[in-house]
Amino acid sequence: MLSYWEKQSLLAYDCIVIGSGIVGLSTAISLKEKYPKKRIAVLERGLLPAGASTRNAGFACIGSLTEILDDLAYMHSDDVVKLVQLRRKGLQLLRARIGDDRMHYRERGSYELISEAEVPALDRLDEVNGLLSHILPGPAFSMADDKLPKTGIIAKHLVQNNFEGELNTGMMMRTLIDLTLERGIEIKTGCEVLGIEESPTSVTVNVTGGLSFTTPYIAVCTNAFTPALIPNLDIAPGRGQVLVTEPVKDLPFKGVYHFDKGYYYFRELQGRVLFGGGRNLDLLGEATTETELNAVIQADLEEKLRTIILPGRDVAIEHRWSGIMAFGSTKEPLIKAHSARIFLAVRMGGMGIAIGSEAGRMLAAMIPA
Ligand SMILES: Cc1cc2nc3c(=O)[nH]c(=O)nc-3n(C[C@H](O)[C@H](O)[C@H](O)COP(=O)(O)OP(=O)(O)OC[C@H]3O[C@@H](n4cnc5c(N)ncnc54)[C@H](O)[C@@H]3O)c2cc1C
Repeated sequence: MLSYWEKQSLLAYDCIVIGSGIVGLSTAISLKEKYPKKRIAVLERGLLPAGASTRNAGFACIGSLTEILDDLAYMHSDDVVKLVQLRRKGLQLLRARIGDDRMHYRERGSYELISEAEVPALDRLDEVNGLLSHILPGPAFSMADDKLPKTGIIAKHLVQNNFEGELNTGMMMRTLIDLTLERGIEIKTGCEVLGIEESPTSVTVNVTGGLSFTTPYIAVCTNAFTPALIPNLDIAPGRGQVLVTEPVKDLPFKGVYHFDKGYYYFRELQGRVLFGGGRNLDLLGEATTETELNAVIQADLEEKLRTIILPGRDVAIEHRWSGIMAFGSTKEPLIKAHSARIFLAVRMGGMGIAIGSEAGRMLAAMIPA
């Protein structure tokens, strides 16, 4: 049984954000910037954020050439450009908010490996550069075959992505949590939202332990886990597999690399190789919210590590993990008012690090005073 005081002062907020990934924290910070006096709480089911934001590869990317060509095959070119612009805006806001040093943001080169079968994509490089020319200060992509030999990487060609960087995901999320707390926003961890009830005047948020919060507005930032709270949305989970090697002696490359339409990605990380992807090998099996490893995909990553990235080297794997993303029938995120009092920023695809800050800003702008 709750006291009068608990109900009034500890369980009532002016706005509640559900989910403490990059989108939830960015939404809370943008809300506080818009309404400095409002009491805002972020509710997180895990003791740590438990989705994709602490489990990705730390690529600050706007899309590779073959990924953008793949998008152009089923999206209108205006929508493809809008997505690239959203990624760029989001990264600019993230960098301005956090500061490059506090998340080790670096631009040490971003490249795409082009296989023999993908060589025709190079004929469209100028077309894609032209398409993006009014939103970027220079060409998005350029040939970089001259850099390939000294990397030791096996590919037919190398394309440079001229507006991409890399960051330390752990430092980025640590700093975002610190900034959220510094601004007087509460984060309640181990607080799983079990249900939401909307009335004409407020929203009741039922959480673990039999407690209920009340608030005029909620921002749902639970990405792949949203269907458990709000059914009938066009959202499906997609798991991403990652491995990190032990330190590699004389590793011949730095920077970040993509291949196969963005389905695979690797980078140098503190003298190691971080390598992830392969979801396209088992799209159905990876449409899950279980953070387990997929043995077939992990074996594929190891095989590609030994034949493409570090050919002829036998390097041990030190860490493996997976994280859960959210996809839909289109690539655009869902950022909208779901009802008068419930607002959503979910379905971030493989772009949430890039677009997450801007998605939060857009969501906060929709929430009334
Ligand atoms: C392997 C991998 C590689 C990636 N690579 C890139 C990349 O190169 N570039 C890029 O931009 N993006 C990349 N992403 C995607 C990016 O990480 C995600 O899009 C982004 O982190 C999504 O952020 P989010 O805040 O929407 O969701 P999440 O980080 O999933 O946060 C949602 C939070 O909600 C919480 N939650 C869920 N349900 C409840 C509930 N009922 N009650 C309370 N809390 C709840 C979860 O515990 C979680 O902490 C990658 C992701 C993975 C996994």
